Amino acid sequence: MLSNSLIELDRAHLVHPVSSFHGHEQQGVRVLTSAKGATVTDAQGRQLVDGFAGLWCVNAGYGHDSIVEAAARQMRELPYATAYFGMGSESAIRLAAELAERAPGDLDHVYFTLGGSDAVDSTVRFIRYYWFAKSQPQRDQFISVEQGYHGSSTVGAGLTALPNFHAGFGIPFDWQHKIPSPYPYRNPVGQDPQAIINASLTALKAKIEEVGADRVAAFYMEPIQGSGGVIVPPKGWMKAIRNLCKEYGILFVADEVITGFGRTGPLFACTEDEVVPDFMTTAKGLTSGYVPMGAVFMADHVYQVIADGAGASAVGHGYTYSAHPVSAAVGLEVLKLYEGGLLENGIKAGARLMAGLESLKDHPLVGEVRGRGMLAAVELVTDKIAKTPLPAESVPARRVFDRAWDNGLIIRAFANGILGYAPPLCCTEADIDAIIERTKKTLDQTL
Ligand code: PLP
Repeated sequence: MLSNSLIELDRAHLVHPVSSFHGHEQQGVRVLTSAKGATVTDAQGRQLVDGFAGLWCVNAGYGHDSIVEAAARQMRELPYATAYFGMGSESAIRLAAELAERAPGDLDHVYFTLGGSDAVDSTVRFIRYYWFAKSQPQRDQFISVEQGYHGSSTVGAGLTALPNFHAGFGIPFDWQHKIPSPYPYRNPVGQDPQAIINASLTALKAKIEEVGADRVAAFYMEPIQGSGGVIVPPKGWMKAIRNLCKEYGILFVADEVITGFGRTGPLFACTEDEVVPDFMTTAKGLTSGYVPMGAVFMADHVYQVIADGAGASAVGHGYTYSAHPVSAAVGLEVLKLYEGGLLENGIKAGARLMAGLESLKDHPLVGEVRGRGMLAAVELVTDKIAKTPLPAESVPARRVFDRAWDNGLIIRAFANGILGYAPPLCCTEADIDAIIERTKKTLDQTL
């Protein structure tokens, strides 16, 4: 049972990320106490299906003893080793090699971070270093996509295009530019895939010309926009954009922090569009959330330019916990689990999830159902023809989230009336059916 003293301690001392401080003080905290598979237990003893895998990260699901043992073994043998100054640990070296072997194209070099934000941040630093090394230091402008999310580090938040990550912080983001999201449900050009791709190409060309083709350093995108509301671009979109960047000589970064590690089916979503980026950022599913870790994949041609540019000097970028041996040991074990059946199960469970959510399409509140693999969204509207978004004040996202919780389901309820789903890949048929049935109940109560 959740004690009042714990609630009070939380109110008084724990600052919650991406939360209304005062709102949280009033609502109090929801505490989880244990978990197994796709089911979590809260402090009231209520069992819930975790339809969001923590924060789209516990891809393998909860309670894998082999992951715990891998971490414990590494902690006993060597709990820490720096990767600075050319030092290292066996687990980090092996994980880098295993990942490089599976990454698309020549993404042969892996730089480990602590999570996604610092992975994105690291790419910005490496990209600037790259252009200095290429004697083009004036390439200091970056382009990304409206509704995109690339973390909340001081630099990465600039690439993020969600208003409350900018408003009130007063940090200059004049080096970053946006093109519209290829949001099929709400795209002014309609839902035809080729029209959406053409519109994005035109917008990107115009943006590059406006900024100056010799000023643009890189373009960032997510294969599926996660925090913007699980926005799925048409097939071929990523490839067309990637090719345009190549034509202009602009580096292309695929942010796979959410989509990586089986979330959409394969290990990396960019392979679904046959795209080889210059950089790929990952985190979350890399260690399945058991311990923190992110990874930047760097193409060989980029790595060589940076290496040659530095010569005998150190490339001055790193974290004390880069390539942490315990995180790497966990990463190696998680990779084994993915390839030992979890990816396959995720594909089957994802098909069941999509079919189940599609069955809710006729519900009066459901405007659209979309997704790929174990990543999905239900967009709620008050008028299906006009696609009128659910007004935030009449049905606040928090209320939908709370109702789902009371019905034994954790989902993400975005402020704009979009429900997000990213369950663990280990979900059984019964787990998926529970997600659907509890979603329906929640929607009926929301009417
Ligand atoms: N990039 C994307 C696409 C993300 O979705 C996230 C987090 O959700 C990040 C970067 C930031 O990752 P982290 O929260 O691990 O710093």
